[in-house]
Amino acid sequence: MKISVLTLFPEMYNALNESIIGKALQKGVFEVEILNIRDYSKDKHKKCDDYPFGGGAGMVMTPQPLHDCITAADPGHKALRIYLSPKGEKLTQKKVVELSKLDHIVLVNGSYEGIDQRIIELDIDAELSIGDYVLTSGDLASLVVINAVARYIPGVLGSESSTEEESFSDGETLEYPHYTRPQEFMGLKVPEVLISGNHQKIKEWRKAQSEKLTAERRRKEE
Ligand code: SAM
Repeated sequence: MKISVLTLFPEMYNALNESIIGKALQKGVFEVEILNIRDYSKDKHKKCDDYPFGGGAGMVMTPQPLHDCITAADPGHKALRIYLSPKGEKLTQKKVVELSKLDHIVLVNGSYEGIDQRIIELDIDAELSIGDYVLTSGDLASLVVINAVARYIPGVLGSESSTEEESFSDGETLEYPHYTRPQEFMGLKVPEVLISGNHQKIKEWRKAQSEKLTAERRRKEE
């Protein structure tokens, strides 16, 4: 899989060199291509923003550099082109799994007040939000998308980690609590059942814990 990222802040993606994602990128398990939108500006000062028509605070990203950069990243429009936006569909684990099955995704990052609406109409297939709050640019959202999607690309997670039994793997349920050594820490003991060796009982305890957590932290919000 290839993920092309269009940004005004390429250095933010140095974070991808860390941890298990960094290792997978080094091994070529998947590819991330970073394009600096500014390199595509035809303005003599490489400007990528301008005042909004109609007035108001802040600047808007101009269409020309974005259009040329998107076309360079995906010349035949074969990829899914996503604009990261607080107005987009909210990212879920289901969406993450869907995205992980694609060959090529283009992530377009806005900055300032956002991008010219005509780019969304002409060049974008989907708008995606990582939550109901506003960031200064789309880049942290893109890093979230890349990290979450990469976990589903075969070969990224080691055999010791699994995406099959964790929070949201069925679309909604939160995972049970984890414990490791020592059996007692600062007076707190590991639940008896987990050291009983009774696999059926452990399974039942974990299921009950998952259901309790989900009911407390998620279902009551509905
Ligand atoms: N004026 C916009 C609004 O009120 O909806 C907010 C623009 S925000 C300051 C700048 C850029 O950050 C956006 O163009 C978008 O790319 C990105 N962004 C901000 N919040 C985001 C979120 N929750 N999810 C995804 N992208 C976000």
